[in-house]
Amino acid sequence: MITREYYSKNKEKILQKAKEYRENNKERVKEIKKAEYQRNKSKYRARYDKYFKIWLSIIIEYFGAIKCQNVGCGYNKNFAALDFHHPDAKRTEVAMFIRQKPTVGRIEELKKCKIFCRNCHAEIHYPHMDLNLLLIKENNNGK
Ligand SMILES: [Zn+2]
Repeated sequence: MITREYYSKNKEKILQKAKEYRENNKERVKEIKKAEYQRNKSKYRARYDKYFKIWLSIIIEYFGAIKCQNVGCGYNKNFAALDFHHPDAKRTEVAMFIRQKPTVGRIEELKKCKIFCRNCHAEIHYPHMDLNLLLIKENNNGK
């Protein structure tokens, strides 16, 4: 049995061992986490919902509204159709932590983002796929 005293004296070593175990038994750790989630699904869902609602109020407070920030768009119908465009391409990170506990670090990352709907977000990342440009080029090549 690990006593509190033993733990505080050997904290670094114990944490290192635990980290090594997790790294060497990734599949097993994944199974354990999955089973744990299944056992406490409703508890986890309630926690995610609570955090998500907090995030929504943080977004409203910081951005003024939950909507596409592209001028002339302003889409605000469905949250699932909105993306967080991160200048350092960390956008998936924001999508992930939006249901986790809001921490100072996460809120700082959120503040670096711009909110775009899926359509505007795609247009920002793929300007060369603009149909007007593609069709003009095609027509010019044909003549
Ligand atoms: Zn938009």
